[in-house]
Amino acid sequence: MIQSRTLAECDPQVDEIIKKEILRQQETLTLIPSENYASKAVLKAQGSLFTNKYAEGYPGKRYYRGCQWIDEIEKLAIERAKKLFKAEYVNVQVHSGTQANIVVYQALLNPGDTIFSLNLSHGGHLSHGKKGTFPYKYHRIVNYGVDRETEQFDYDEIRRLARKYRPHLIIVGASAYPRLIEFKPWRKIADEVGAYLLVDAAHIIGLIAAGFHPDPIPYADVVTATTQKTLRGPRGGLILCKKDFSDKIDKAVFPGTQGGPFIHIIAAKAVCFKEATEPEFKDYQHQIILNSKALANTLIEEGFRLVTGGTDNHLILADLSHLEITGERAAFLLEEAGIITNKNCIPFDPQPPSITSGIRLGTPALTTRGMKEPQLEIIGKWISEILHKPDKKNLRKSIKEKVKKLCQDFPIYKDL
Ligand SMILES: *Cc1c(COP(=O)(O)O)cnc(C)c1O
Repeated sequence: MIQSRTLAECDPQVDEIIKKEILRQQETLTLIPSENYASKAVLKAQGSLFTNKYAEGYPGKRYYRGCQWIDEIEKLAIERAKKLFKAEYVNVQVHSGTQANIVVYQALLNPGDTIFSLNLSHGGHLSHGKKGTFPYKYHRIVNYGVDRETEQFDYDEIRRLARKYRPHLIIVGASAYPRLIEFKPWRKIADEVGAYLLVDAAHIIGLIAAGFHPDPIPYADVVTATTQKTLRGPRGGLILCKKDFSDKIDKAVFPGTQGGPFIHIIAAKAVCFKEATEPEFKDYQHQIILNSKALANTLIEEGFRLVTGGTDNHLILADLSHLEITGERAAFLLEEAGIITNKNCIPFDPQPPSITSGIRLGTPALTTRGMKEPQLEIIGKWISEILHKPDKKNLRKSIKEKVKKLCQDFPIYKDL
């Protein structure tokens, strides 16, 4: 019976590719700050047969029958997230971080309204209004940047721009900002110009959950996030908001921008919220930061310039200009040694986004594997060696073997 075959029996080709990807993840070092390894419990819930069910609507108000357990799982996820973040209202149906932001635009803005957000090349995100995206088409986008000297937010300048452009929505949140963000000054600026404040916590939501990053909930009208990054859950979105916005947000998710919710993903989100309340999770988030600082210090000792001079969170932005090597080439060379990173613009980058002068490094995934400061120091030295000697192909080969050995000592899961 077709329904009962294993994946290997049904489709050896896909099965084989999945096995190769498992091996790739096991044998390489993931330093991409937005990536992580979901637990077996999360994967199990995500692979459950909740995937079979349609459940348009919300708990108690569905368009389909047969939603008894669907309601129970969605309510559980909502309650857990509310408690974890001390949020007034939660939507767990939103499919991704990008969609969560689009939901907020749909809920709070009219076409033509102004969005004030961080420049993509200074660490912002595509979904904050990059040319060619949905918000760019329907809204006026005005960007702020970071200060040229400090490479951090300059609140006087941000206030000046906000007063000049009178945005309807201010977005704070980044994909490549290595420092803590205080949200009080943002609330103040939003109030001064009569704007809504959206905090996009996609990257830092795990740190926030564990208390290692300032909490946006008291200040933001809406907080959007992803569940797959530092929160270490399934690939998905999350919206936390004040009660006043609950109706508008729910309607903007369904039917505004989505159809049926992914119940299997909601089940996995519930598991991830439970994991995030456990004491081990707090230790994990703390270690992410310790590891990030250890890697940063090693790179500084090796002569690298880090954007803002260091890090307070899970990520590092390294400027490679002094090595005369582009971000594009650096990420390629590191991959040859089994070290997986991404090229990234640095503020005021002379190179285009497809080339860049920097690489972005983060520690959430390695920390999940159990690596600590000594391992991060070794990895920092490997990165330095590879980038200082880009002509030495044999060096990358020999480091790749060492990477493989280190990975064996820190398997993603016990049985790998
Ligand atoms: C990753 C990220 C997102 C988008 O998340 P997806 O789930 O990939 O759509 C949104 N905002 C910021 C700041 C991000 O870093």
